[in-house]
Parts: sequence; structure tokens; C-alpha cells
Amino acid sequence: MSSFILGVDLDGVCGDHATAFRNVVAAERGIDPSELPPQQSWNFTEWGLDRAQFEDLHRRAVLDHRMFRSMPMIPGCAETLWRLSDAGISIRIITHRLYTNWGHSIAISDTVAWLDGNAIPYRDLCFMGDKADVAADAYVDDAPHNVAALQAIGAEVLVFDQPYNLEVEAPRATTWTEVEQWVLDRATAAGHVIQNPMPLAEDAITRLHPGPRI
Ligand SMILES: [Mg+2]
Repeated sequence: MSSFILGVDLDGVCGDHATAFRNVVAAERGIDPSELPPQQSWNFTEWGLDRAQFEDLHRRAVLDHRMFRSMPMIPGCAETLWRLSDAGISIRIITHRLYTNWGHSIAISDTVAWLDGNAIPYRDLCFMGDKADVAADAYVDDAPHNVAALQAIGAEVLVFDQPYNLEVEAPRATTWTEVEQWVLDRATAAGHVIQNPMPLAEDAITRLHPGPRI
């Protein structure tokens, strides 16, 4: 039996995009990040951004602020993915970071540097807009439109809790600990035997990581 494949979104699931983008917007406006209200909507309307302003700030975030390299990791992500990987789950990262027609070199190289810098394990890395086109056995995503598209094809999808997806009706996780249990349950239900991790001298995070983190 082939491995159980977990499709993992990056922004809003592994990476704290909200904090990273908040810092960029505040820096560009010359204000403290705490002066921006909490993000509640997918389109950042509470920060007074129309589509063109968002696109401009997003471009600066990626190209000037190197947001994809410096974004904080959501707590527990790397450790959980290592445990799942050790249990026999194949990690397939799926991100739509190439949705623009500029900056692909920086977007891809900073994404890979960030994954390495945070010691996140993965077997496949997909830069894909249409997540339903990616064959995985289960998915974790935060975007309401992605969850809907995946549900429409009958996929197993877990919503990673964010203020802009509270209306989405689907299994939900607020922490990576909850993600781990859901994934193991799905894999077991699909007939996969969960492997006990081998005892290792080093902790999982340092396996990928002989040098200093970025
Ligand atoms: Mg996302």
C-alpha cells in the first residue's frame, strides 16, 4: 500500500501570514503593527485595502520585505509534521504563492529557504492554484474557497482555524496538535498502519538542520 499523502497549505497553516503581512503593512505606513485591527476577512478589508492596494503591498511584502523567507512559523507545525512523517505519512506541501506574474524566483527560493530554515519536512512541493488538482489523501487548508473546492470533489479536508474561515462547515483544528490527531485518524480509517517512530538520539527538528536557522 502506498503512503498516505497529506496535502498541507503554507500561508495561514504552516506560516503566520497574518502576522507577517501585518508587519509589512505597518512598516509601509510608518505605524506600529498593533495599530492595525485584527484581520477578520480574507481580503484585509478591515485595514482599508482595496484590491489594487493589497496587490501593491503584497508585491512589496514578497520582493522588498522578503516575507516568504521571514514569516513566523505557526507553533507546532514542524514538530507535528516530523511526527507524522515518522509515522509513515507523506507530506505534500501545496501553495498558491505563484498567483502573481512577477517575482517567481524570489517567491520559490524564499519558500524553500523558509521550509529548510524552520526544519519542515516534505516529500513534494507543489506551487498550484487549483488544490483539487493535487492528488492527496487528505488536506489541511485555511482558505474558504479551497476548502469548498476540495469538499466538492469529496476530499477529506481539515480547516485550520482562522478568523476569516469561521463560517466554513468542515472539521476544524485550532492547533497543530489537533491536526496531528485528525490526520492519524484519517490514515487509520483509510487502512494505513501507523508506524511507531524509531527512537532517535537527536530531536527531529535538528535532523534537517546542521547549521543555524535563518
Ligand atoms: Mg492558506
